[in-house]
Amino acid sequence: MEEIRFCPEHGYYRGERCECGMAGEVIMSEERTTRLGKFISGALRHFPDKLKLDIDERGWVSFEELMRVVRRKYSWASKWHVLALLKSDVKGRYELTDDKIRARYGHSIKVDLDFPECNHEVLYYGTSEEEADRLLEVGIKPVRQRYVHLSTTLEKSIEVAKLRTERPIILEIDAKKAREDGITIIQATEDICLSEEISPEYIKKVVKIG
Ligand SMILES: [Zn+2]
Repeated sequence: MEEIRFCPEHGYYRGERCECGMAGEVIMSEERTTRLGKFISGALRHFPDKLKLDIDERGWVSFEELMRVVRRKYSWASKWHVLALLKSDVKGRYELTDDKIRARYGHSIKVDLDFPECNHEVLYYGTSEEEADRLLEVGIKPVRQRYVHLSTTLEKSIEVAKLRTERPIILEIDAKKAREDGITIIQATEDICLSEEISPEYIKKVVKIG
């Protein structure tokens, strides 16, 4: 992760310079951004119980309560550090209301997220060469995760897969048919849709990259 700075014109951003070219005031160092980011992500996606954080079935937590556990762990962290982290997050990991916060995706705990239905006809899932054969046989299951994460564009799926393998295989999912057959697919962010298990019949094409 990069440091977080503040541009008076455009708000919080990651890196040295804002898109306008201005080098704003540093709000949080790279190290603190990484540590705070990992902690908040873990608290909302993986271990709220361990922190005695009250989380509802939709994944929401009171912002005040989150601040309480954040401060217990990092005494330097203020509400402004947390807001800077959330507002500079270009991946849209979090959803924030006046007094509540939740992760939009990436949960391993059991949640029942209520995002609108995704209306993409095709979705993409990036994987490795070794894994692809198995998925074509057994389908894509949410292993260690609450949902299967699908990308809305080919480019995004390649980007995600490249974090794990140099030569990704992209599976094209017939999302339209899956929905017609009653499988729920919801839109978490512009780039990510979440679904229950995708069985092999909905994998309609295999694209080799690189
Ligand atoms: Zn700016």
